[in-house]
Amino acid sequence: MRNSLRYSGLVLAVALALSSAAFKRSPVEQRNAILISWDGALREHVRAALARNQLPGLARLIRNGAMVDIDVVGHSTDTKAGHAQMLTGYDAQTTGVYSNNRYKAIPAGYSIFERLHQVFGSKGIATIMLTSKDHNLGSRGPGLLTEPDPYYWVRPGITVFDGDQIRSASVVGGKALHYIGRFANSGRFLLFIHFSEIDAAGHKHGEDSEEYDQALAVCDKWLGTLLKELEKQGIDDRTLVYVTADHGFERASKRHGNAPHIFLATNDPTVKIDGQQRDVAPTVLSAMGVDLSKIRPALPGRPLSAASSN
Ligand SMILES: [Zn+2]
Repeated sequence: MRNSLRYSGLVLAVALALSSAAFKRSPVEQRNAILISWDGALREHVRAALARNQLPGLARLIRNGAMVDIDVVGHSTDTKAGHAQMLTGYDAQTTGVYSNNRYKAIPAGYSIFERLHQVFGSKGIATIMLTSKDHNLGSRGPGLLTEPDPYYWVRPGITVFDGDQIRSASVVGGKALHYIGRFANSGRFLLFIHFSEIDAAGHKHGEDSEEYDQALAVCDKWLGTLLKELEKQGIDDRTLVYVTADHGFERASKRHGNAPHIFLATNDPTVKIDGQQRDVAPTVLSAMGVDLSKIRPALPGRPLSAASSN
């Protein structure tokens, strides 16, 4: 009896090992997370490109995970407000970031980077914020007539802040590979990577342009490269990867003033339900082992693995 139990356990373990090289239900205290923002990626456009097999990296990511619908609610569909909610879980009333023009610096301690340090210690996890735009994701101090950037108070609590510059996907992607290599085998990490190509193509050529498709493909290629790097480093089985957007785009337009349709794609097999942008941060934090009930102020969203509704 004992032997047959052991044998069936072994068969199950082998079957699981062969099923994919992707993320497995690793102990939460060993997990890393990579959160990727495809700035300006419209959900319907991404799904259509995926259906045309133009996004092999994304297809690979969600093969054993999920892609759920996310709506932006309660703030402008722009870069500042979208990222402020993505990276804190709070509504604009709490962060002070309502839009690109109406904003304050996010209070210290409210970002997902700082939350992980509060729970696991300053040395217990490394956090990296890697961006490709300046002010809207910036950390610069106040000017004569301007507020400090949104991440001014947050930056000191992040292990590595690599931003305040406009950069291409190839520069940011290359740096992301560098950070994965640097932190892969020295404990846990959270790496946030921001790509601005899709938004830029949309503004210049329109959401219905070939250039918008090409920009999606560029970001997807980097996603595939990063997934391969996780395998090479031997950490793919304990690294959660999430791809989302700050806002979508208006159809056949060069604007995103009213563009609430985004998504969350992930290798996390527990993600099951559609939600709102405020749910992205609690989804990531709870998968990393943070007890959401202890966070103050309380987060308004919920993990998208939850079966209950609110
Ligand atoms: Zn934009």
